[in-house]
Amino acid sequence: MTSELLIKNGRVIDPANGIDKKCDVLIIDGKIAEVGGKTEDRGQKPAPSAAQGTEDRRTVIDATGRLVTPGLIDIHVHFREPGDEEEETIASGSAAAVAAGFTSVVCMPNTNPTIENETDVEYIHRKARLARKTHVYVMGAVTKRREGIELAEMGFMAEAGAVGFTDDGSGVQDPAVMLRALKYAAMFGVVVAQHCQDNGFAGDGVMNSGYYSTILGLPGIDPLAEEAMLWRDIQLVKKMPSGRVRYHAQHISTAGSIELIRTAKKESLPITCEVTPHHLLLTEDCVAEYDTNYKVNPPLRRAKDVEALKQAIADGLIDALVSDHAPHLQSEKELEFLAAPFGIASLECAFALFVKALIEPGVLAWPGLIELMTARPAKIIGVDKGTLGVGKQADVTIVDPDAEYEIDVNKFRSKSRNCPYHGWKVKGKVEKTIVQGEIRFEA
Ligand SMILES: [Zn+2]
Ligand SMILES: [Zn+2]
Repeated sequence: MTSELLIKNGRVIDPANGIDKKCDVLIIDGKIAEVGGKTEDRGQKPAPSAAQGTEDRRTVIDATGRLVTPGLIDIHVHFREPGDEEEETIASGSAAAVAAGFTSVVCMPNTNPTIENETDVEYIHRKARLARKTHVYVMGAVTKRREGIELAEMGFMAEAGAVGFTDDGSGVQDPAVMLRALKYAAMFGVVVAQHCQDNGFAGDGVMNSGYYSTILGLPGIDPLAEEAMLWRDIQLVKKMPSGRVRYHAQHISTAGSIELIRTAKKESLPITCEVTPHHLLLTEDCVAEYDTNYKVNPPLRRAKDVEALKQAIADGLIDALVSDHAPHLQSEKELEFLAAPFGIASLECAFALFVKALIEPGVLAWPGLIELMTARPAKIIGVDKGTLGVGKQADVTIVDPDAEYEIDVNKFRSKSRNCPYHGWKVKGKVEKTIVQGEIRFEA
């Protein structure tokens, strides 16, 4: 039995192949079979095979007025399993992901226990297969228990399919440990991702340091905490023999970081970086009412940092857009500002938020946005995804770019509601998410 899925008349945007045109996409048995204008003619429904008594399945989707893109990829999410299943599980996070158009996500290892060996990686993969929604990849920890001292089982994790290493939640403080991690990961050709934050500078800070932290009486995190570690890591990358080393700066948030990235890229260093929606849409003054939904790490910065990030995106310096989806229990977020955990649950509205931050003000055109949510993040984690190339696994997202809606956290598939965007009016709605040729979400 053959199964066919024909997506007709959409605006197909496939940046990896330089495609942006109105045409059809034909999927046969879970793979992209054809992208072009004549798929309908050739697709005459074959006669059912009488011999086996089975019938070929053919589904047609009319995508007129819609964007048809490679399945979106988010290389930075927290699904909280194992350990904090009341906040999110692989199953609930996966359901949220496909509802948000993401056909691949990468889970961070700061779970409880930490993802630090091959069994842990396999555990996540197994849970994801059972959930049968989105592809779930894993980054393993750089160091055991994320303590920054002893390297985790990076080799075994790489063999088990880990697509990167990070101690996300904190940065690797000791430069000698970080250098060893870069050397070791390079042997496997796996990227090392860093939550750039020097603990000495960051201290007990809970928001950006400056005017607002002073008047609110809250300890601040200086932008230097991020920039110092990023600068240090760039020096470490320079020390590495060129070849397989790859370094990725997670959720960069300051104008100073942008300048460091700009210089590093001019020198053609193997460095990539990512940006979150909150660092593009929110600023430090949001914290003024002590609403812990705005407590995030790295913290919300100044308007001039937001402008620098947008300029960097327009200049092509940013490699990926990520949600850094960080679900938390309401009871925890209701603690006072100092005690509440960091993080925003934003996976389910991430696409529309990036539309608001980047398409609406004209920072990017559609192909540019789609590239930063498909082909380029796929390259960072080294997976054969993010394209509609013929023969590739058919992960496809269909979006109505003009549909307006209001973000309602009560409709989230995610288990958590710590989201400051509740009630926001946004544009750009995911209508269908197709994973391996199967419609896994339909609005
Ligand atoms: Zn982080
Ligand atoms: Zn994170």
